[in-house]
Amino acid sequence: MYLKELFQELYENYGSQYWWPANSKFEVCIGAILTQNTAWKNVGLAIKNLKKAKLLSAEKMQSAEESKIAELIKPSGYYNQKSKALKFFCKHLAENYSFDLEKMFGKPISEIREELLAMHGIGKETADSIILYAANKPIFVVDAYAKRIMGRIYGKAHDLDFDSYDDLQKFFHENLKPNARIYNEFHALLVQHAKLYCKKEPSCGKCFLKKKCEFARSGK
Ligand code: SF4
Repeated sequence: MYLKELFQELYENYGSQYWWPANSKFEVCIGAILTQNTAWKNVGLAIKNLKKAKLLSAEKMQSAEESKIAELIKPSGYYNQKSKALKFFCKHLAENYSFDLEKMFGKPISEIREELLAMHGIGKETADSIILYAANKPIFVVDAYAKRIMGRIYGKAHDLDFDSYDDLQKFFHENLKPNARIYNEFHALLVQHAKLYCKKEPSCGKCFLKKKCEFARSGK
């Protein structure tokens, strides 16, 4: 099955997912940092606390005490590391872009990515989420759900290591035209599919992809 076909199947079954749920680009960046190793509902609680404390702007966050931020984002877990990462991100924005995210997002994808990856507490998935969902630039976000689903659907058919972030991202980039809207929706649809059917213990019998999926066809 071509990737385009997979996208169509998912889209026809689930419709638009309206990602990323946030009121500003800065909030997307904060959410992308906070969502590491935790469920989205916990991120929601942390963001609610930051909003209530009126700290959801780069300027305000930059001047706030790290310990205060840590306290507010406690629901998202790993709060000491994450508050450090948030402070580092705001400091970078202050020193290089006078807090103007648009200036940073005006750069080519490769440069933004390099800058983000050099920051404390930002890995590939977080950097790419910021580039796709906040900067609205076409880079595919790979996560554990995408690895699981793609590994199962395509099996060894493409002779790629679907557990590798870089290999899987390359697979998407080579087989889909660069389009931020499609990448945005595709990633969100994969998350939805992993939650409803392609769970750790997959519900292949009920899955609308079973006839096109290597894993289901091999009867594993
Ligand atoms: S058929 Fe099974 S393994 Fe394949 S995508 Fe559906 S749930 Fe996942």
